[in-house]
Amino acid sequence: MDRIAKVREKFLGQGLEAFVFFKPVNRRYLSGFTGTSGFLVLTKEEKIIVTDFRYREQVKNEADGFTVIEQDDTPEKVLGKIVAEYGLKRIGLERDYVTLAAYEALKENLPCGELMAIDDPCIEARGIKDAEELLLLREAVAIADEGFSHIRRYLHAGLTEREIALELEFYMRRIGAEKCAFETIVASGPRSSLPHGVATDKVIRSGEMVTIDFGAVYKGYHSDITRTLFVGEPTDEQRNIYEKVLQAQTLALENIQPGMTCAEVDFLARDYLDRQGYGKNFGHGLGHGIGLHIHEEPRLSLKNETVLMPGMVVTVEPGVYIEGWGGVRIEDDVVLTAGGCEVLSKSPKTLSSMIL
Ligand code: ZN
Ligand code: ZN
Repeated sequence: MDRIAKVREKFLGQGLEAFVFFKPVNRRYLSGFTGTSGFLVLTKEEKIIVTDFRYREQVKNEADGFTVIEQDDTPEKVLGKIVAEYGLKRIGLERDYVTLAAYEALKENLPCGELMAIDDPCIEARGIKDAEELLLLREAVAIADEGFSHIRRYLHAGLTEREIALELEFYMRRIGAEKCAFETIVASGPRSSLPHGVATDKVIRSGEMVTIDFGAVYKGYHSDITRTLFVGEPTDEQRNIYEKVLQAQTLALENIQPGMTCAEVDFLARDYLDRQGYGKNFGHGLGHGIGLHIHEEPRLSLKNETVLMPGMVVTVEPGVYIEGWGGVRIEDDVVLTAGGCEVLSKSPKTLSSMIL
């Protein structure tokens, strides 16, 4: 079933006649339109895209099969006209996106019918990637892998975290990334205990660990990889903790498969680290979906009972963080297959390959 058919089935099944999509990622997912402004209306029969003059030409090329309406007034006035013209009654809106102010304006300008704030019907469909999405994700991951191999050669004591982040970002842009997937994390020495320590002017010194968490965006799709490097020979404690985190990740990667719940996968890594005495040092979920957003469904966490299915793409990223000492995180991107998973990211991660 194609994307629109899946999403239609979802909202029609909830008794709605139409759904209005304001989220840019949903606009792109459903129509292919990459412009930054506009909205999309799906009914049982119609596919309508509204955008302004700036995108007149682009929308025709990108949103194949859609009726294009040029936005010549406020979104609420234009939607009001569409609702009147098609006689729509029960209309859904993305409840996790539309602001109260927008909702009120839309409601005031509705000539007939009823607006309902509903869970985004694209979330389920977007959780399982189709062939085209997998191609784009593979490319986004390949760019990040290449970026890592470049930065591994480039990194040495004396550089600042910021210099490393900039070099990595510039390199990924040059080989095809449209942008970085998020603010690059380069956390060295004791700062590596900050799971989200963005790069600072701190100088990297010999003997320190450096955690780099980064990704590329390719045609809208995000990759997300983490590696922890050692500048010089690691201490016994650094070696020990690195091997424990790698073992926790390996356990999850070797056992993750469709039919398991997200909580069960999270438990595999968490229980292992717990038994090694590091349970309280792994304070975040094991992973998250990636796609048009850097963090999307399904989230691999102890609280999530969602059942994994083939075609889902998630990160697997256990970590151990010790305040004042530092931290280790290893993150890869995987696609769920019929019998398990395929690890998309190929950057090396054995301890010996992490020593500079
Ligand atoms: Zn990451
Ligand atoms: Zn991540």
